[in-house]
Amino acid sequence: MSSALNKLTIQQAHDGLKKKEFSSVELTKACLARIKKRNSELNAFITVCEELALDEAKKADEMIKKKKPFDGSRSKQKMLLGIPFCVKDAICVAGARSTGAAKILDNYIPPFDATAIKKIREQGAVLLGKNNCDAFGHGPSNENSMYGPVKNPYDLTKVAGGSCGGSAAAVADNMCIFSIAEDTGGSIRQPASFCGVVGLRPSYGRNSRYGIMPMASSLDTVGPMTKTVEDAAILMEIMAGRDERDATTVGDKSIKSVKSIKNLRVGVPREYFESEGMDKEVKKIVEKKIKSVETHRNASIKIIDVSLPMTKYAIPVYYIIVPSEDSSNLGRLDGIRYGVRAEADNLYDVYAKSRAVGFPEEVKRRIMIGTYALSAGYYDAYYRKAQKVRTLIIQDFNRVFEQVDILLTPVSPFPAFGIGEKKDDVLAMYLADVFVGPAAVAGLPAISVPAGKTKAGLPVGLQIIGPRLREDLVLKFASLCEKTK
Ligand code: GLN
Repeated sequence: MSSALNKLTIQQAHDGLKKKEFSSVELTKACLARIKKRNSELNAFITVCEELALDEAKKADEMIKKKKPFDGSRSKQKMLLGIPFCVKDAICVAGARSTGAAKILDNYIPPFDATAIKKIREQGAVLLGKNNCDAFGHGPSNENSMYGPVKNPYDLTKVAGGSCGGSAAAVADNMCIFSIAEDTGGSIRQPASFCGVVGLRPSYGRNSRYGIMPMASSLDTVGPMTKTVEDAAILMEIMAGRDERDATTVGDKSIKSVKSIKNLRVGVPREYFESEGMDKEVKKIVEKKIKSVETHRNASIKIIDVSLPMTKYAIPVYYIIVPSEDSSNLGRLDGIRYGVRAEADNLYDVYAKSRAVGFPEEVKRRIMIGTYALSAGYYDAYYRKAQKVRTLIIQDFNRVFEQVDILLTPVSPFPAFGIGEKKDDVLAMYLADVFVGPAAVAGLPAISVPAGKTKAGLPVGLQIIGPRLREDLVLKFASLCEKTK
């Protein structure tokens, strides 16, 4: 078994550690060896914390030896003890360089853990390093990272998706057991789809946002990227819950409460299949997957054709609200309070130069769009209008969830595209989020599970969208979809 320890899931690693089939040091070394072998090619990590990881693994082994974590009731508490993981670089981790993939934070080492990460580390998980991403989460291809793009493990000429391309590639390539990532408008689900892993965007407010580098505060979420749906559920149980540092969090933690998913009414929104630019092969793979779910024995699933006419407004709304919130949130990165400060003669130039060299083009573009949309005279026409249409999108979903329990859609209109292929076409990049944007704008939970592969061998994901705070249903249904062939 030891030759492929890095391929294990959380559940398998937990069981193996418990039975003393291997140690956490062996497991951690297996992941580090894989990172050493592959990272120069894939570029999935910006920072690798080798020494820290081995140190944490040793400590975990000592605890396991003393049988502390596995005695009866406490065994569940320490589910992650000794299990190596990594974190998107736009999430703060105490003591580990966290750049957000932008040079302005090249030297930033947070003094604190984001709440979600604190909960994971309190379980004894071993930190391997920080994953590459689009700078501060801006982008669907990882090409907006100032540390270079991530390559897709299935085809090195293709993108891994974005913004959490590094997390997706690290999980897909078995450089880690799991990764914790962030989804504002698809950043967990789309790369999960491109790299053939499981990625869950929780409901807005389910997990604390405290300690993630804020992009759009009314959409940002923290979620898991894993090898199985079971692992995603394990991590959600650990991360979910009220946090006094994030006033938008909810107390309810019912992640695994659904026992049976018999007699479900499953909606298939036609707008997600009629989209312009939809790849025929992707459409076929997703439709085949839906068919296999429908005919799954014993489940009595009823597929219902539904309509979400507001779908087409999700991207325009997203690209007003997100840059607006971005332009405000990114104001804190001024070269004075955090990170790298440019040399200049006066205060204004320190700000201007630090930001000029510290942000990539896409971040600057969003700051400018957002500042414009919020400015006096344009606020009503853009920002307020976008907020109103956002309400219509939420109402669209609410109406459909009276007819059906859950929705099935593609994650992306196409499989992983070529590195450089869309880089200069900003609109094409924005439109890549067409199927992941709506659930984000509405604050709903949504997961990407592998649905199949194209003839060229590229993974394609199926998206499952649930009503707000119904991660229990989404996860249970995802595990059924995972099993059907
Ligand atoms: N592609 C989306 C964007 O560029 C993804 C953002 C995210 O989820 N962090 O805004």
